[in-house]
Amino acid sequence: MMYCRRCGGKVAVHMRQHKLALCKDHYLEWVLEQVDKAIKRYQMFSSQERMLVAVSGGKDSLSLWDILRRLGYQADGLYIGLGIDEGLGYSSESRRMCEQFAAEGGLKLHVVDVEQTYGETVPGMMRRTERGRQKACAVCGLAKRHIMNQVAREGGYHVLVTGHNLDDEAAVLMGNTLNWLTGYLVRQGPVLEATRSGMTRKAKPLCRMYEREMAAYALLRGIQYIYEECPFSEGSKTIYYKEILNKLEHDRPGAKLSFYLTFLQAKENGLFTPQADPELEMLHTCPSCGQATTAPGLCAFCRMVEGYQ
Ligand code: SF4
Ligand SMILES: [Zn+2]
Ligand SMILES: [Zn+2]
Repeated sequence: MMYCRRCGGKVAVHMRQHKLALCKDHYLEWVLEQVDKAIKRYQMFSSQERMLVAVSGGKDSLSLWDILRRLGYQADGLYIGLGIDEGLGYSSESRRMCEQFAAEGGLKLHVVDVEQTYGETVPGMMRRTERGRQKACAVCGLAKRHIMNQVAREGGYHVLVTGHNLDDEAAVLMGNTLNWLTGYLVRQGPVLEATRSGMTRKAKPLCRMYEREMAAYALLRGIQYIYEECPFSEGSKTIYYKEILNKLEHDRPGAKLSFYLTFLQAKENGLFTPQADPELEMLHTCPSCGQATTAPGLCAFCRMVEGYQ
């Protein structure tokens, strides 16, 4: 029989990776402490800054919004309607979850509907463009990054916050390492400073939280979220890397966290120099949207939607 480390009460969550078991109340308290520690440790933002949280309707982003508010940060939400309504109506359902969460908490939610704003849905962009036919998620990622930056800039937000958890970050790290993508490795981290014009600082306060820990948080807080994954994520490399990391984690509890944290430490120790980052070449400004781009002329996003507005 196991007891809560803090009060000796009934255990709600047992984390082998931390050799820690806690009751419901102390678990919820522990999550707040962990996230707050990460925010301070990586100097993500201060409580005076205004932040925009990108919410997808999933457990991570909605829990993150909940955590930030409970920690006393001023966070508004941003929902991007991608128009992915293949199958079960993924986008409309996820939007409903975000709107409901915002309404219940009296929180401000910006909604950008991609089709209304740019003339076609994200799946439409995928079908129309060469890039999209080859890599659906690349087109979607390009659109999401562009819109997040745009809303953050227009709304005068200091920082853009996303709900990427440790499992997400470790999977990306694995992909970047297997291919030694130095440019991505230089930029991968809990904070991405706004070094380029038209861009906003980005932060990932959940980067040290296991996906399982976030699921437990959402459940214990009674947060309603969409369980379905985006239909395009099926069979993706990220999911494959997550499975491999879960096998590692199963045999060696804590392996995932240590893979990520030792990477961050190696970077702090100077493993990668900023010169390894090709995006530092982004010296041009897109004449249409004002965001940074590698070559003179329209940025990749504006080229993609050109003629569709
Ligand atoms: S899985 Fe791909 S297509 Fe779906 S929301 Fe994520 S990036 Fe977009
Ligand atoms: Zn307890
Ligand atoms: Zn542009």
